[in-house]
Amino acid sequence: MSENMNVEEIFGSKAFTVGKMRERLPKGVFKEVRNVMENGGELSLATADIVAKAMKDWAVENGATHYTHWFQPLTGITAEKHDSFVTHPDVEGRMLMEFSGKELIKGEPDASSFPSGGLRATFEARGYTAWDITSPAFLKEDATGVILCIPTAFCSYKGEALDTKTPLLRSMEAVSEQALRIIRLFGNTTAKKIVPSVGIEQEYFIVDREKYLQREDLIFAGRTLFGAPGPKGQEMDDHYFGTIRERIGAYMKDLNLELWKLGVTAKTQHNEAAPAQHELAPIYETANIAVDHNQIIMETMKKVANRHGLSCLLHEKPFAGVNGSGKHDNWSITTDTGINLLDPGDTPNENIQFLLVLACIIKAVDTHADLLRQSAANVGNDHRLGAAEAPPAIISIFLGEQLEDVVKQLVETGEAAHLIEGGKLETGVSTLPDFEKDATDRNRTSPFAFTGNKFEFRSVGSSDSVGLPNTILNTIVAEAFCEAADALENAEDFDMAVHDLIKEYFTKHQRIIFNGDGYSEAWVKEAERRGLPNNKSMVEAIGALTTEKAEKLFSKFHIFTKVELDSRAEILYETYSKTINIEAKVMIDMAKKQILPAVMKYTKQLADTVIALRDAGTDASVALETLNEITAKLAEAKYALKNLEKAMEITTRIQGNKELAFYYKDAVRNSMDNLRRPIDELETMVDKKAWPMPTYADLLFEV
Ligand code: ADP
Ligand code: MG
Repeated sequence: MSENMNVEEIFGSKAFTVGKMRERLPKGVFKEVRNVMENGGELSLATADIVAKAMKDWAVENGATHYTHWFQPLTGITAEKHDSFVTHPDVEGRMLMEFSGKELIKGEPDASSFPSGGLRATFEARGYTAWDITSPAFLKEDATGVILCIPTAFCSYKGEALDTKTPLLRSMEAVSEQALRIIRLFGNTTAKKIVPSVGIEQEYFIVDREKYLQREDLIFAGRTLFGAPGPKGQEMDDHYFGTIRERIGAYMKDLNLELWKLGVTAKTQHNEAAPAQHELAPIYETANIAVDHNQIIMETMKKVANRHGLSCLLHEKPFAGVNGSGKHDNWSITTDTGINLLDPGDTPNENIQFLLVLACIIKAVDTHADLLRQSAANVGNDHRLGAAEAPPAIISIFLGEQLEDVVKQLVETGEAAHLIEGGKLETGVSTLPDFEKDATDRNRTSPFAFTGNKFEFRSVGSSDSVGLPNTILNTIVAEAFCEAADALENAEDFDMAVHDLIKEYFTKHQRIIFNGDGYSEAWVKEAERRGLPNNKSMVEAIGALTTEKAEKLFSKFHIFTKVELDSRAEILYETYSKTINIEAKVMIDMAKKQILPAVMKYTKQLADTVIALRDAGTDASVALETLNEITAKLAEAKYALKNLEKAMEITTRIQGNKELAFYYKDAVRNSMDNLRRPIDELETMVDKKAWPMPTYADLLFEV
């Protein structure tokens, strides 16, 4: 990398941006493309052919040999199948690289090996990918060569969504349509579209690759399944925002460069709370592009790490005892004319449109807290939510002092006459300026916090796609807007009706507002008293997808059919079981083949020492006591290992995805914990040289 990189020049050099289309397409064609981007509809095949050729020419100029329809099946990651631009040679044996409009717009990968939750029988293997014209195509460059990646949605032969993008795009249309009805009520006739904007803060861990490769658990499960805490964890709070070590800095520099080339606005980077933990955030953008870019970010993080002899861990809880990773999903809705509906202005108490929007969101979150919670559920996140390091599994809303007070006044008196002001923050140092204080402090414990002009959904896991969380947000808010518009569009006295409706929503749904400490035990009790759902684990959360309430919501806005919902629930139960199954098998393998043999070898050394000491006629009691303690733990571990094997044996006899998932959660995970305990204790008892893999201290502090 050159020392003086020109970021402005590099930015987007590997993305087929609107600017490149403008340069490379005939005026009329470009206009048609922009029109479809803005207003939907389809390109004519003739136009698509011209776009495809321009895209291919650009890609080939940049070294591309293949293209792929890049999509996001329900595996949580992306999928690609490469096709080269090679065509049939002519009689002379000459070949011309080609790419047609049809190939750009539609693909037909065999879908039978992707999760479908029984949506398709394997003989109905046909799946279709369809170009998402609004998300820029990009060039992926690595040892494979240069591949033109075309963001696509993925559906079955019958049009059922098999991915995360299809429902997200549907939900964006729904919220746009309903939000337009709301702003029309307030006299806005110019906006044609409302777009959800999303900004994702992505947390991750970096460890040394050599050490990573010595741990089967990291390789196969993405997290450590054994590991005693080192002498130091995160208790000194010295990592958060700490100076970035050079090896990590060099990685971040390279990572930023790769992302900028792809048109991803990598903006913020810093060390996070746990040792070896970091964060990257790009600037917010349209929801579907932000979701695609988050996938690109995760993939690039891993790829660049490998180049630096490092490994990037995106798992929600790679290490017990220190903070895990999540991602904050910052969400707002803005008109195509640039008005953010979540901007309260200087006097939110007088901003009726803002108060109505806020009331609708509060209603939506309260009504569908179970769905929002489900959207943030994955296997890894079970270790974080509610563990006093991430928000609880109970969904609530943090509004901040100022807005909470406005809501309170409205509920109590029907009017919000006054406003708590931020005031001045005096630094007390004459050479420093005094600051205007924000009217609201931050609250890191809240799952869903209002932060000035956006909501921040903080429950999502670090490895998860943000497709579903944003689909849920858009849809539940669309429903609340729809119901409000239904009530207000025909009102005789609009001012009166909107005033009453705001008051009604705030009053009915104020139980979801909570500004206190979300980590406290008291909140769990209080939330229960308020009747808020508390689905503690992923498997308990899945049911939210198939309630009558959910079916009604999703079918009304054409997001998911009942069949799609059922299939998604099935996939989630299966995913849970498969993941825990792998983790348990890895534990058994590591315990049996690495850890127990190593400890036994060590006991042999100790026994030799005891004998040698006795032969020498001296006191062997310390060695003997140590030997006895270790042997006792070893027996405990062996017993726990057998129990885990028994639990695994039982899984083969359980029928039904849901039943099996619950068995894994309750019985298998318990047996895993029981095995981990004595083994972690053994780690603290035996000679470090005898331990067969890098420890927490090695992994977390020696990057
Ligand atoms: P933090 O919460 O850590 O202070 P920031 O407030 O800087 O972080 O923003 C975090 C993310 O939120 C960034 O991706 C940022 O671009 C995004 N963001 C900022 N404003 C909005 C908005 N109006 N809508 C959606 N996302 C936003
Ligand atoms: Mg934030």
